[in-house]
Amino acid sequence: MMQQMIKETLLLFGKKYGYSAEILVQAPGRVNLIGEHTDYNDGFVLPCAINYNTLVASRPRSDYQVNVIAVDFDGKDNFELNKPITQSENSWANYVRGVFKYIQEIHPDFTGMDLVIHGNVPLGAGLSSSAALEISIATTIKTLHNLDIDPKELAKICQKAENQFVGMNCGIMDQFISTLGEKDHALLIDCRNLETVSISIPTDISVVIINSNVKHGLVDSEYNLRRQQCEEAASILNVTKLRDATIELLEQHKTQMSDVIYRRAKHIITENARTLEAARALSENNISKMGELMQESHLSMKDDFEITAPAVDCLVNIVKSVLGDKGGVRMTGGGFGGCIVALAPKEMVDEIRQTVEKEYQNQTNLKESFYLCHAVNGAGSVNI
Ligand code: ADP
Ligand code: MG
Repeated sequence: MMQQMIKETLLLFGKKYGYSAEILVQAPGRVNLIGEHTDYNDGFVLPCAINYNTLVASRPRSDYQVNVIAVDFDGKDNFELNKPITQSENSWANYVRGVFKYIQEIHPDFTGMDLVIHGNVPLGAGLSSSAALEISIATTIKTLHNLDIDPKELAKICQKAENQFVGMNCGIMDQFISTLGEKDHALLIDCRNLETVSISIPTDISVVIINSNVKHGLVDSEYNLRRQQCEEAASILNVTKLRDATIELLEQHKTQMSDVIYRRAKHIITENARTLEAARALSENNISKMGELMQESHLSMKDDFEITAPAVDCLVNIVKSVLGDKGGVRMTGGGFGGCIVALAPKEMVDEIRQTVEKEYQNQTNLKESFYLCHAVNGAGSVNI
C-alpha cells in the first residue's frame, strides 16, 4: 500500500510541476493504547505510531513562493513566505500554513517550495491525520533547508500550529508520537516534561484498530468542556494540574465539588495510574494484566468521564467477548465515537474481524472499518 502511494505521489509531483521531487518525507498516524484525556492534565499517555502515513513530496524554490497540492482533497494552495501568512478558506490548508508560520518565527529566512501531499491515515477517525500532516510538512521544511530543530521542538511547533492557527485545542501527544514513534514500541510519554520511555510491544501481539463510524457533532465542544471541568477540579483540589492529585486528595474534597466534577477528576487520576501500570505490564509481556487495565480504562471513560457512545461500548464488548483475558480492548481518542484499539494475539485477529463483521452492524446499524496495525518509526525521509 505504501509503495503504491509513494509511486502516485512522485508521479503526480512530476505531472503538476513539470520536474521531479527532490525529497519525499513521511509522517505516521498514531493510536493511543491507554491514557485518555490525560495529556492536557500534564499526565501520562502510551501511544504508538502506526503503519498509516502522510507523504509529502517536495522541491525547494529560490523565491518565496509555496505551492501546495493536496491529492486527497483535490485541493491547491499558494502563499508567499515574504508576506504575513494568513488564514485560508480551505481548512486543510491551515494545517500547512500554520506550520510554515511558526517555523518562520524561529527560522525567518528560508525560501519557498513546491509540495504534493498524499496520505492514507483515515481522516477525522481519531488516528491523527492532522498531526501526520503537520509533522510531514514540518519535517519537509526542516530537511529541505537543513534547519536546526530538534524533534521535540518540531512537535511543539506543530502543536502550536494546530492550537493557534487551526484553532483546535489539542495536547502534545499526537505531534510527539508522529515525530518520535519507534518500530515495534509504544512510547510512555510524560506530558509534563516530555520525557519518554520506549515500551516494546510483544512480537506475537497485533494492534487492531476498529472505527465505530459513529459521528458526533459536538466532539469539539465536549472536548473543551472536559478540559474546563478538569481545570475546575484542579483548582478545587488546589493543585496545578490533575497530574498532581491523588485519589486520597480527591476523596477529602469530594463534598466541595459536584458529582460530575468529582467523576471527571476520578477518571484522570485513575487513568494516569493505569497508564503507568500498563507500561509496566506491557514491558513485562503481561497481556492479561494489560487487558484488565484497558477494560478499566474503558469503563472509566464510559461511566466517569462520559465520553464513549453506545455503539462504541457495543464494539468494545464484541471484541472483548472474543479476546477474553488474552488481550485488551478500549475506546481510543477524544471520544463520542471514533475508534477502539485492541491488543490481540496475532492468531485471534481473524476471529475478531469475523465476529465484528457478523455482530456490530446487526446490533447498531453501523458498519465498522477495520485496520490491522503495527508500531512503526516516526517521521523521516523516504528513499526515492
Ligand atoms: P484526525 O486528526 O483525527 O484525523 P482532525 O479533524 O484533527 O482528524 O484532522 C483532519 C483534518 O486534517 C482534515 O479534515 C484535513 O483538513 C487535514 N488533513 C489530514 N490529512 C490530510 C491530507 N492527507 N491532505 C490534506 N489535509 C489533510
Ligand atoms: Mg487531529
